[in-house]
Amino acid sequence: MAKCSGITRAGGACKGIPIDGSQWCYVHHPDHAEERRRHGSKGGKRGGRGRPQGELARLQSRFEELAESVLEGTVERGVGAVAGQLLNGARACLRDAMAAREQEELLARLEALEEGLAANAGGAPSGKGGQRWGA
Ligand SMILES: [Zn+2]
Repeated sequence: MAKCSGITRAGGACKGIPIDGSQWCYVHHPDHAEERRRHGSKGGKRGGRGRPQGELARLQSRFEELAESVLEGTVERGVGAVAGQLLNGARACLRDAMAAREQEELLARLEALEEGLAANAGGAPSGKGGQRWGA
């Protein structure tokens, strides 16, 4: 079977299978390279330093690099599968961290709201229900 005439980043001949009757695999086909670059620039809109969105974008590019390496034949399928699972683990941690941060923010806002309510209630007469929101 014909092989892609592209060169991998490792400098070797690509083992990918040519598509659309061309001499390049999906990774090395000029048309798709252009397409991939467009997708990439769209994903480049990331949040500020250390923001979860930035981390997600970084993970996404790692997944894409890994897929590319497996397609190019520079990474064995088995190795790629394990690496993919590990990356997935990292993604799960990131997702949990994002959820935890969100919850902390919500709690902080709730506490601020309660403080505001308590402050408002401060001048109220000491009738029943005055201490409802606590100190
Ligand atoms: Zn190729």
